[in-house]
Amino acid sequence: MKKITSIKTRITLWYTTVMFVLIAFVLLLVGTLSYRLSIENIEKDVTLQVTQVSDRFGKDPGVFQSVDNGKDFKNVSIYEMNGKYITGQYIYDIANIEFSEGKPRRETVDGKEYIVYDMKKHGMPGGNHRGFWIRGVESVNSTILFGRSAFAVITVIIPLILLMTAFGGYYITKKAFLPISEIIRTANEISEQSDISKRIIINPETRQDELYSLSMTLNNMLDKIETLIMQEKQFTSDASHELRTPISVILAQGEYLLDIAKDEKEKELAENIVSKSKQVSSLISRLLFLARADQKRQKLNTEKVDIDVIFDIAIENVTELAEKKNITIIKNVSDDIIVNADELLLLSAVTNLVSNAVKYGKMGGMIEISAKKHNTSVVITVKDDGIGIEEDKLDKIWGRFYRTDDVRNDEYDSYGLGLPMVKSIVELHGGTICVKSKPGEGTEFEITLY
Ligand code: ADP
Repeated sequence: MKKITSIKTRITLWYTTVMFVLIAFVLLLVGTLSYRLSIENIEKDVTLQVTQVSDRFGKDPGVFQSVDNGKDFKNVSIYEMNGKYITGQYIYDIANIEFSEGKPRRETVDGKEYIVYDMKKHGMPGGNHRGFWIRGVESVNSTILFGRSAFAVITVIIPLILLMTAFGGYYITKKAFLPISEIIRTANEISEQSDISKRIIINPETRQDELYSLSMTLNNMLDKIETLIMQEKQFTSDASHELRTPISVILAQGEYLLDIAKDEKEKELAENIVSKSKQVSSLISRLLFLARADQKRQKLNTEKVDIDVIFDIAIENVTELAEKKNITIIKNVSDDIIVNADELLLLSAVTNLVSNAVKYGKMGGMIEISAKKHNTSVVITVKDDGIGIEEDKLDKIWGRFYRTDDVRNDEYDSYGLGLPMVKSIVELHGGTICVKSKPGEGTEFEITLY
């Protein structure tokens, strides 16, 4: 059976059940007690009337008259010892019940219930000394009928009360839990949109209860986290900015040293300086881009861009490496595909993907880059038949400085900042990017621009 996970439903179910048990218990108790009490009252009444008649017998000659007309004794009749009716409130059916002394008892005649109390009396009016029976009888049918109709009413009322309790309770709990729904919504927004500036909306009219305090505390905590993240981003941005000038100087001087190198040894050293400076310079540019994008300072110079041209330049940028690995690059662009984009950024994104396809492609392999229109959107794919990515790492490749273990080497200038940058560029354009890959078979990146 499926477990109920909603706290609201669990609470509602809990107190509705408790309510049901409680109401059923109280009604059962009250019902049984009042029924017992009514029966006891009838028994007392019948016993009293019979005893009074018995006590007045011999002392008050008018007692038979009172029994006869039923004025004082509505429920008493007098019978001879053989059961023959003499006087009183004659109840025909009751005469057939055997007489017996003792306590008041329950008798059923033709499906109707009675309380019967018999008392044997010696002597007899009129000088006959055989004795006689004084019988008190009262019907309990009205009590039982009342009990039954009360039960019928209760069977309608209990479900009604329970329904009201369940709906009312659910409504109140739902209202009380609204701040929690708001907290969940905000937390989801923060994680889905990676936007730490979102806050829990607190209605100023809400009661200042524990959930109100929780919302306030979480908002304060988010304020602190946002400040820390902003400081860290500012630091990355400032540090990258500060490093740009010295690295340009080192690169320029390295190139100068390369020009004036006297022998192979000096040339090799200068080449090393130039290549490493270029790597660091590219790393700094990527860091600066990401910091600007994080701070929402990265501007888009949108214009009409021909995807075919972008592909040509991207292929050109990686030709040298592709030739070294004997990789064939196939371009596949259907029609003229023109998109509104920042040309330099889009080129950088496509170049990154094609360059990765070459870096992680197999020797003598093949890369296919294609673009096609899909309704109003444009889908760009870069597909290789290289080493592929294991499934558990597919989510991680978008993280900054992430590289899979098998490529952690210095063979390429690989820092794990390429894909985060591509993702950021695509998102700046309002697009999406996804990846499909199988280890040993290849990888396919797909950008959709809307
Ligand atoms: P890097 O500069 O290391 O290439 P990226 O951010 O571009 O950084 O890529 C992150 C990691 O994702 C790479 O180190 C590599 O492990 C993996 N990766 C990216 N593209 C491919 C691909 N086409 N085939 C296999 N692995 C890839």
